[in-house]
Amino acid sequence: MRIAIPSSKDGGLEDTISAVFARAPVFTIVDIENKEIKNVKTIQNEAMNVPSGAGPMVVQMLIKEGVEAVIAPQLGPNAMAALQAAGIKVYTFPPGTPIKEAIKKISKGEAPQSPEVPPYYPPAPQPQAYYPPFPMPARPPIPEPPRHKDCIHYKNGKCEFWNLTVHADDPACPFFIPKNAPWRWW
Ligand code: SF4
Repeated sequence: MRIAIPSSKDGGLEDTISAVFARAPVFTIVDIENKEIKNVKTIQNEAMNVPSGAGPMVVQMLIKEGVEAVIAPQLGPNAMAALQAAGIKVYTFPPGTPIKEAIKKISKGEAPQSPEVPPYYPPAPQPQAYYPPFPMPARPPIPEPPRHKDCIHYKNGKCEFWNLTVHADDPACPFFIPKNAPWRWW
């Protein structure tokens, strides 16, 4: 099993576990076979000083290294979710723990694994609340306003009531009387 450990200083078995994961200066990579340490190497953390997104960047780097487990004192939700999605185990140790000691515990099967973070699901879309909660009758169409040309006072582009020139197709004034009105008031 290949384990990555965020290390406090220069990395290696004599170093201690860093208090931070994604911002650790260096990662110690330890290969364990048959409960024995087979290989140890260190890699510099390129994501240490990035302004944001260090967690997923580090996880990508560890995936490339073929890491199967990490030791972390604490993890942000993004890094934790990325590790879980990659199938990488997470062991939790207090910061400052000697790396050698932590590796021994893991190889003996005595190290506790971090509980899994429940996968994030976007909230299910809720049925939209409509108001009013009953079907509304269709809105009646807005009637077209009458036009000067349909008014009894309109003649050859002029309003004989107001003695004004009007445009035949413009909306009528409140004194509009339809040409076909069955009544007269004068
Ligand atoms: S609608 Fe008004 S402005 Fe137009 S022709 Fe009739 S009275 Fe004159």
